[in-house]
Amino acid sequence: MPVDGRLLNPVFDNRPLSHTEDRCRACGSDRLHRFLDLGEVPLADRLLTSEWDCRAEPRFDLVVALCHECALVQLTETVRPEVLFADDYPYYSSVSRTVIDHAKANVDARLAERRLDRSSLVVEIGSNDGYLLKNYVAAGVTVLGIDPAEGPAKAARAGRVDTMPEFFTSNLAHDVRQRRGPADIVHANNVLTHADDLRGFVTGIATLLKPDGTAVIEVPYLRDLVESVQFDTIHHQHMCYFSLTALDNLLGAHGLFINRVERVSIHGGSLRVFAEKVEDRDASVLDLLAEERAIGIASRAFFDDLADDAAVLRDSLVAMIEDLRSRGHSVAAYGAAAKGAALLNACGLGRHHINFVADISTHKQGLLMPGVHIPIRPPEALFEERPEYTLLLAWNFADEILAQQGAYREAGGKFIVPLPQPRIV
Ligand code: ZN
Repeated sequence: MPVDGRLLNPVFDNRPLSHTEDRCRACGSDRLHRFLDLGEVPLADRLLTSEWDCRAEPRFDLVVALCHECALVQLTETVRPEVLFADDYPYYSSVSRTVIDHAKANVDARLAERRLDRSSLVVEIGSNDGYLLKNYVAAGVTVLGIDPAEGPAKAARAGRVDTMPEFFTSNLAHDVRQRRGPADIVHANNVLTHADDLRGFVTGIATLLKPDGTAVIEVPYLRDLVESVQFDTIHHQHMCYFSLTALDNLLGAHGLFINRVERVSIHGGSLRVFAEKVEDRDASVLDLLAEERAIGIASRAFFDDLADDAAVLRDSLVAMIEDLRSRGHSVAAYGAAAKGAALLNACGLGRHHINFVADISTHKQGLLMPGVHIPIRPPEALFEERPEYTLLLAWNFADEILAQQGAYREAGGKFIVPLPQPRIV
C-alpha cells in the first residue's frame, strides 16, 4: 500500500485503504502461489474529475495467486469496499443489447424447464436496473432484486421490478427468507467475483433457496482468461477468478452441489453453473471437471506462461499504436469501463497515444480515465473528430459496438481489437 493512498484517505479515518491477504478467501489455507504481479496500479473503476483528483490518486498492489488447497485464483490485496465501490456514476445493465439478450435467453430457458408462477419467488443478487428480472415479471412470476446501487435500483422499481437497495450478506438472506419465503431460483451474474466475504455470500445463497431450488450463477471463466490472455479483466474489483473445480469446492463446502454447467460466450467466456441442495450431477459437470484436471487448471504450471503472454501482447499493442502515431495517424479508444482502464495502464498508453476515450454513459463523459488521465467523451466524438483508429477497450462487446459505429467505419475509421492478439478491423 503506497504512502500517498494513506495520506489521501478518501474515507477520512486512520485505517489503511487496503490490506494484504495471506490466506485463501475461500478455504482459509495459507498455501497461496503468487503467479502474476501487475505492480501498483490505480483503481480501474475510479474515474477522475480534475487535475487535483489525478494527483491524489491512490494505487494498490495487484498480485494474483492460486490456492493449492481449493484451486481458487484470487487477488492478494483487498481494497476496502467503501473505497472500491465508491464510484458515484452508476452502471446500467440495460445500456447493452448483448447483456439484455443474454439475460432474456437465460430467463426463457428457466421458464421452459420449471413451473413458475405468482406463488414462486425468483431472486437476483446484483439485479441492477431489473434487466433480467423484468422477463420474469412479464411472465407473471414474483421477483425480488437485491442491489446496493441506488440509481439502477430506482430504475428497476420504476419498471415494476421489486428491488431492495442493499448489499447482499448472509444476514440479509435470513431477513429476506423470513419476510418473503424461500426462493425457487436465485440468479447471481458476475457478482461472486466482487464478493468481499465469499463464504458469507455463498452461505446466503444456500439460505435463500428452497430445498428443491436452484442457484444459477455466472462467473467469467478462468480458463478463457488464461487461454485468451485477458489480463485486462484482472483488477481490484475482481477479487476472484473461477474454474469449475474451484467453484465446485467453494459451493460444496456450503452444501450446494453443481449439478449442471454451461460455457457461455458473454464477457469473453463465462461459466453458468446450476447449484442445488441435492446432488444430481449430470455429464456436463463430470466432463468439464475431467477436462480441467487434464489441462491442470489447479496446478501452478497452468499459470506459468500468463505473465510472459501478457507482456508479449502488451508490447505488440504498444508497438502497433506507436507505429500508427509515428506515421501521423490519430488514435482514440472506446469503452471507459474497468477493463479499459486496466489495459491502458498495463500498456502505459496515455494522452500522447490516445486522444480521448468514447463511452456511451453520460455519467462518465467529461471525466478522466484512472492512471492515464485520458478524457472521456460521448461516442459522437468519433464521428466529429474522425480519429483514423479506435482502440476497442470494450472488446467483450465488439459485435455490438462495431454495429453501432457503422457510420464511423463507413467514413474510413478503423478499430483495433486488442485481444487475443492486436488486429485492425
Ligand atoms: Zn483455498
